Amino acid sequence: MTDQRIYNFNAGPGALPLPVLKEIQASFLNFNNSGMSITEISHRSSYFDDVINDAVERAKRLLGLDDQYHVLFLQGGASLQFAMIPMNFLSGDESADYVNTGTWSTKAIKEAKIQNKKHVVVASSEDKDFSYIPREISFSKDAKYVHITSNNTIKGTQFAEFPDTGDIPLIADMSSDFFSRPLPMQKFSMIYAGAQKNLGPSGTCMVILRKDLLATANPDLPSMLKYSTFAEKNSMYNTPPCFGIYTIDLVLKWIEEEMGGLEKIAAFNKEKAALLYDFIDASNFYRATARPDSRSLMNVTFRLPSEELEQKFIKEATAKGFGGLKGHRSVGGCRASIYNAATMEGIKALVAFMDTFQKEAK
Ligand code: PLP
Repeated sequence: MTDQRIYNFNAGPGALPLPVLKEIQASFLNFNNSGMSITEISHRSSYFDDVINDAVERAKRLLGLDDQYHVLFLQGGASLQFAMIPMNFLSGDESADYVNTGTWSTKAIKEAKIQNKKHVVVASSEDKDFSYIPREISFSKDAKYVHITSNNTIKGTQFAEFPDTGDIPLIADMSSDFFSRPLPMQKFSMIYAGAQKNLGPSGTCMVILRKDLLATANPDLPSMLKYSTFAEKNSMYNTPPCFGIYTIDLVLKWIEEEMGGLEKIAAFNKEKAALLYDFIDASNFYRATARPDSRSLMNVTFRLPSEELEQKFIKEATAKGFGGLKGHRSVGGCRASIYNAATMEGIKALVAFMDTFQKEAK
């Protein structure tokens, strides 16, 4: 523990970088000498203009985006995107392809179904309990878009490489691994992410949207459900989630200026994950649940020899200051979420604890 803070391995909301939290704390009552908190500042003020424009510019620089992309901040979490995507981009007889790699993809598919939108599940890893990422996928020739979930937060699987969809726009839910690695942006027409894992507090959803995909959107929708509403007003059609956007800006600044950008943070994330997976693989007590070629660098899922031992492990870990190690309630087991903000010190401490626990249990 540092500063009386636990080692935070929660899946979501996940840990934020300590320097960012300290900066928020220091400036919370008097943001930029305004005499007001960021939570009191008008979103129509120059103070907030600077924040949102800086967040957009940093996101563009980090991802290498040109002017073909909008960077938007919406509300309703990633879950609202599940509904907005088919609503905006599928009209009449148009159909979309979905790759089902777990709970979150299943929920995205459900929202297309509810709206009676045509869709095809072109690949799924449900046959093996979502423990792997399908490869060699063939997409429908006439698909309006392809939807994937880049990282399955619950089962701990992740696309290491992204499918080539040719001319079909690729849309990715990156809620649990956005800004954890560089991205081949030429492949993506849209990326969205609920902020609360790698980027900021819950309540803000970041959306990167290519202008050519936006141009095909259905215009006959309520204003708050249309991407164009947000694209035309720099995400300020109504009062945006100001505190969330401010925090995202600070996190992006931390990635860019303190962590050295996405290449460097990706290398660091790989190193952190390897430490944990290597330890688990070398043990005959812990067992990683995701197939080795599909393992997530963000959510490390594992089991112990029995549920009783898992409960004891989580209880003792919590008492020693390791938080959030319980697996998702739908699958059980254990999970260490090691987002960008997870420190090497925290992971080494976790490995040491796991080692002691296995020796005492044997
Ligand atoms: N997609 C993924 C990959 C997630 O992990 C989550 C939440 O954990 C969601 C979507 C849902 O996000 P939200 O709670 O912001 O709607």
